[in-house]
Amino acid sequence: MVVAQKSSKCPYCREDIAPGALVCKHCGMPLVKKPKPKPPFWRSQYMLGVYSGVAFMILMIYFYSRLF
Ligand SMILES: [Zn+2]
Repeated sequence: MVVAQKSSKCPYCREDIAPGALVCKHCGMPLVKKPKPKPPFWRSQYMLGVYSGVAFMILMIYFYSRLF
C-alpha cells in the first residue's frame, strides 16, 4: 500500500521526516496520531432530530385537530 503523502516535518524538532514514520529519526518523538475519542455527538444530534420531529408532528396534529 503506497500512501501518496509528501514528506512532512516533525512537529517537535521541525526536521524532515519520512512519510509514514512512526517515530522521528531526529528527536525520537512518536509521530503516531492518536485517534481522538469520538464523542457521541452524532447520537445526541440524531436524538435531537428525532425529538424535534416528533414534537413537530404532535404540534401539527394539535393544530390540525383544532381546525375541525
Ligand atoms: Zn523530531
